[in-house]
Amino acid sequence: MTSIPQVRALVTDIPGPRSQEILKRKSEAVSSALGMAIPIIVERAGGGILVDVDGNSIIDMGSGIAVVSVGNSADRVVANVKAQVEAFTHTCFMVAPYLGYIEVCEALNRLTPGTHKKKSILLNSGAEALENAVKIARHYTKRQAIVVFEHGYHGRTNLTMGMTAKNMPYKEGFGPFAPEVYRMPMAYPFRWEGGAQECEKEALELVIHKMEKELGAKNIAAIVIEPIQGEGGFIVPPKGFLPGLSKFATENGIVFIADEVQTGFARTGQMFASEDEGVVPDLIATAKGIAGGLPLAGVTGRAEIMDSIHSGGLGGTYGGSPVACAAALGAIATIEEENLCARAKEIGAIISTALNAMKDKYPIIGEVRGRGAMQALEFVIPGGIEPNPAVLTGIVKFCQNEGVLILTAGTYGNVIRLLPPLVMPENLLREALEILDRAIASAI
Ligand SMILES: *Cc1c(COP(=O)(O)O)cnc(C)c1O
Repeated sequence: MTSIPQVRALVTDIPGPRSQEILKRKSEAVSSALGMAIPIIVERAGGGILVDVDGNSIIDMGSGIAVVSVGNSADRVVANVKAQVEAFTHTCFMVAPYLGYIEVCEALNRLTPGTHKKKSILLNSGAEALENAVKIARHYTKRQAIVVFEHGYHGRTNLTMGMTAKNMPYKEGFGPFAPEVYRMPMAYPFRWEGGAQECEKEALELVIHKMEKELGAKNIAAIVIEPIQGEGGFIVPPKGFLPGLSKFATENGIVFIADEVQTGFARTGQMFASEDEGVVPDLIATAKGIAGGLPLAGVTGRAEIMDSIHSGGLGGTYGGSPVACAAALGAIATIEEENLCARAKEIGAIISTALNAMKDKYPIIGEVRGRGAMQALEFVIPGGIEPNPAVLTGIVKFCQNEGVLILTAGTYGNVIRLLPPLVMPENLLREALEILDRAIASAI
């Protein structure tokens, strides 16, 4: 709970002796296929602090990958979950429905962009939400082709692996992948040939040209895109790219699907990142920040699309678990009542000011980008745009040794991304940024 003191405090090296002991058991018992961003064993967490089994208090600049945006063990989430597990833990919504599921769908229908009639379904994970969004779009359009983008990330199931751009580590050796998935160039201003201005002028036209000439617009069931790419390195497309794709979709009977799994729920300063340019997706996939840490995901969209599927065509045993729904209602109430969209903007201003000051000092920083509480640094070989992933190991380690957890990202593994909980006290945030600054200084 948030009774955990919001201060950074180290009492041992990272990892401490107890963490080391348990990490040994981890390597004996747990598949080595799972990565690990910080070598500690967590005992408690609250707000913006992780406390490990050695008693170290670490600043959490990752939120479990944009999940605990309302803070770890947020009060409303904890209270709702406790009440729910005492009432009942599971019925399966398709066996015997319950109110919490319906209320989460009502909230999603209300909060997602657009004033049209919307309906929702609930699932367990982001990947499952994307799988379902694609199923719905194909069934509705009676078409097969799915358009995705370079640097995109959509999950680790077979279909979503195929939709994901990056081979290592997500796809290597895991094929064959599902057919009828087509990857388009991404409007990535920093790496566009000719630069950001050319990107703004050319990217949309190029993608539309490829869709028309290589796929045939009438064969495309859906265009699936993250409004800001997450794992790809917080790539923000230039103004007009998303509205242009959405317009092309509408004109051609294509379902426009926004993957807001990472960008959703106040992260970028709006409830959903699509709102920044007034984009109204036909379907929107949500997960991560939806339920304060409990596994839950959703697909929300135009009622005529969502209702076009035969009864029994969608679902799952656990999707929209009553416990996860209770948590989601607590998380959504927290976002709205504590005005966390506005807070995400303030956090974004603090972070981007600090990161831009670092960029002025350190020529290994090629670009600062992001929106709201979703900000990143892309590292390069000074003087150009050649990716510089080698410096990240030292920077991340320095931060860990000082009690700050930061995450990396990017197709080239050269991006540091910051995703603090939106309830993080400002002094902690500034402390983490000051340590990151020293970490970068030490890396050059
Ligand atoms: C994390 C993520 C997913 C996959 O979500 P899981 O819950 O891990 O399956 C899909 N899309 C985006 C944009 C993500 O960030």
